[in-house]
Amino acid sequence: MNFNKYKNLLFKKIKDQISGWFENRDNKLIANSDVYLFLHSVKGTAGTLQLGGLYQISSNLMDQLSESDSQWNREELWDFLYELISHTYEYENFEEDEKVKVQPARDNVPLIQIIDDDVSMLILLKDTLEEKGWMVITNTKAEKAVSQYFDLHPDCVIIDVNLPNKNGFEVIEDLQKHNNRQFVPKIMMSILNDRETRINAYRKGADDFIQKPVDMEELIVRLERHLHRKQIYDQSVLLDELTKLYNRQFFKTVFERSINDLKRLTKTFTIAVLDIDHFKAINDTFGHLAGDKVLFSFATFLKEQTRTTDSVFRYGGEEFIILFEHTENQQAVEIVSRLLDDFSQRTFNENGHTFNATFSAGVYSVDTPETSLDVAFKAADQALYKAKENGRARVESANCSLPTIKKQPLYVSIIDDDAIIRTMLMRILQSMDLRNYELNIMVFEDGRKFFDSNRFEQEGEHFLILDGVMPVMDGVEVLQKVKKSPNAKNALVLMLTGRKSEYDIARALKLGADDYVTKPFSITELQARIERLIQRMS
Ligand code: GH3
Ligand code: MG
Ligand code: MG
Repeated sequence: MNFNKYKNLLFKKIKDQISGWFENRDNKLIANSDVYLFLHSVKGTAGTLQLGGLYQISSNLMDQLSESDSQWNREELWDFLYELISHTYEYENFEEDEKVKVQPARDNVPLIQIIDDDVSMLILLKDTLEEKGWMVITNTKAEKAVSQYFDLHPDCVIIDVNLPNKNGFEVIEDLQKHNNRQFVPKIMMSILNDRETRINAYRKGADDFIQKPVDMEELIVRLERHLHRKQIYDQSVLLDELTKLYNRQFFKTVFERSINDLKRLTKTFTIAVLDIDHFKAINDTFGHLAGDKVLFSFATFLKEQTRTTDSVFRYGGEEFIILFEHTENQQAVEIVSRLLDDFSQRTFNENGHTFNATFSAGVYSVDTPETSLDVAFKAADQALYKAKENGRARVESANCSLPTIKKQPLYVSIIDDDAIIRTMLMRILQSMDLRNYELNIMVFEDGRKFFDSNRFEQEGEHFLILDGVMPVMDGVEVLQKVKKSPNAKNALVLMLTGRKSEYDIARALKLGADDYVTKPFSITELQARIERLIQRMS
């Protein structure tokens, strides 16, 4: 007998109940007896429909349920029911395979950037490479690709030769000119395979050349080789190419060494995290090359102005670390403040325009050898964030008890007609701990409700997760409206699309969606992607 119709009804019922409980804006408590009835009915129906996993989960949950007439608050009930909710999601999307898949850890997944205006090609490559467990971002436009390259730090770039406005050679030249990444393999791709095109590609800085139509198996092997080489390179190199300072990798080594000194000699050391203020504006006004120059001269300045026992590192983009050996907190704060005074008086020249630059810094002293690098860095970084919040161009210390930091709100709106997906996404986001943002999350069943809520008129940064296909007003329409609104520049948009809807993906990218994820998505993967996107907003 075909149970499909009944299965669908069961899932609909679960969804309705879940959205009724968790999307209600009032904070009413939920009666234990309601939960009991719900689980009872899920268990019964699941058993009848031979849905073994669902049956098992609901029956376990029932066993844990006390019979008292107590009440649940939403958070607790969420935790309690989470397995059932995620199972429902997995089952619905990954179908008959009722075993919940174990997903690989998502830390340090390589990020691959693909630049091609042929959307079908983009989708095919993205799908194939994501199946490998890699993370992929796609761009159809050269300008946006270059700025995303700077913001997202991909581990490998694939560039099509034929692009509108700017061709692939020019793009690779743009990326190459900065030449400040620690070796990012660049692969050119073209339908043309003549000698001249190939030589030109290599000359412009390509590390590899791939002919279209692409042999996927070969592409994957070649990518694996490139990523592997990059990994070895990153681990072996101690100097940052652009600034000639020590890199992040070497910071770890020096930190460990200082911890050992601390153990033996009980000498306090101090780290300072420095971040250039409004650096994006420098890039935007004078170009990335001018930005690079500022980075270089800042690095040189720091090296010149610190003692030989201090080490200076480039931690990432425009973020630097100084490790002061045998230095107490107050002393380090004074040194960094003096550096700030001196640096802000320097003048930069660019095409006849002059400008100044400042930085903000957070300082943290390590006086117990149990302190991990993670803890020390986070503390200094928090102090840095506070310096930014207090107006920039200043130094804050984490050791002088920091008052709690008021984080900036980020308005996250999840717009999807599927209640399970809405609640899953809400959960994913709620569990994120972001450095600069306090998340304000709301879910909407469709675009109209979202706009009716006037939420998007709220001043501040927005992050929208949009389902591509919805009744009433579909995702592309919502995107269109968002992009036309005055608040458009403050919004980052992630589209959720069906695997086969190439047309929608093409439209979404053309309309300026920042990224897309195909449904059904793996939860851990989506989480990693959202984190990456949001972190880069700051
Ligand atoms: P804030 O004062 O809050 O620090 O603002 P900001 O603009 O300095 O900070 P944000 O983190 O928003 O921007 C940093 C920018 O630095 C984004 C990125 O494009 C740019 N960037 C990162 N690495 C490089 C690089 O190597 N060269 C250049 N030119 N720009 C870079
Ligand atoms: Mg900055
Ligand atoms: Mg920064």
